[in-house]
Amino acid sequence: MKSRLREEFYKTGRFKDFPVYDLHGHMGSLCAIHFPAPDADSMVKSMEKSGVKMLVFCHHAALLSPDIGNRANIEAVRRYPERLRAYCAINPNHPKIIEKDLQSFDRYYGNTYVGFKFLASYHGCSITNPRYESALNMAEERKLMVLLHTWGSSDLCGPAQVRKIAEKYPGARILLGHSCHNAWDEAVKLTKDFPNVYLELCAVLNDRGPLEKLAGEADTGRIVFGTDLPWFSYNYYIGAVLGADITDETRIKILSSNAEKLLSEHIEIPS
Ligand SMILES: [Zn+2]
Repeated sequence: MKSRLREEFYKTGRFKDFPVYDLHGHMGSLCAIHFPAPDADSMVKSMEKSGVKMLVFCHHAALLSPDIGNRANIEAVRRYPERLRAYCAINPNHPKIIEKDLQSFDRYYGNTYVGFKFLASYHGCSITNPRYESALNMAEERKLMVLLHTWGSSDLCGPAQVRKIAEKYPGARILLGHSCHNAWDEAVKLTKDFPNVYLELCAVLNDRGPLEKLAGEADTGRIVFGTDLPWFSYNYYIGAVLGADITDETRIKILSSNAEKLLSEHIEIPS
């Protein structure tokens, strides 16, 4: 199928009529992995190159180095308040840190945070564990975005666990990072059963086919773009959305307008 957007992006490396939003990023180095561009400066440069207006991320240190914690998120957003927002990392293995982060959440809400990030399988603690409850209650009250790492085969963050959370917290905007990877039918079913569930495309785009399935069966108003930046690049992932057999209208929703709607519940989007 011919695509105006594909031709435009291949020619110019960006889209002229709409900005791209990336709702799933990280930041910083990580042991034993080489990232060519992992710091805030080089990530913002790659955003600029590809016409990405805003990235919502959670720094690797916030998720995996409790001695540094969410400070890494706050510092990066301070440097680039026009381009970055963060998910406050919730590490269930450090409940005291969670308590502190939630106490200071007000100060950083909007100007830094738009929600929370849970990385259950890395932390070895199911998303249904009561240690996440205080954050989820806050997300419920304020309609915050909660980016979950979800994987089809996981019993910590698979479709069955997501179902429990989506049902219990109907006000929270539950973003299924990786869309319950490889359990595509269950992911679609979750969006049909719960209007607060969104599908996010990081790692989904590594294979040909799943995006067509999700866009064909789920509400295209609830599919959002994410890259795990600095893990994957914009050329690769925007290219994968452009290469999928979906319409330009759906591409614009996925790359731009769906995320814009979610973000504008919490922040005024910089012009
Ligand atoms: Zn991620």
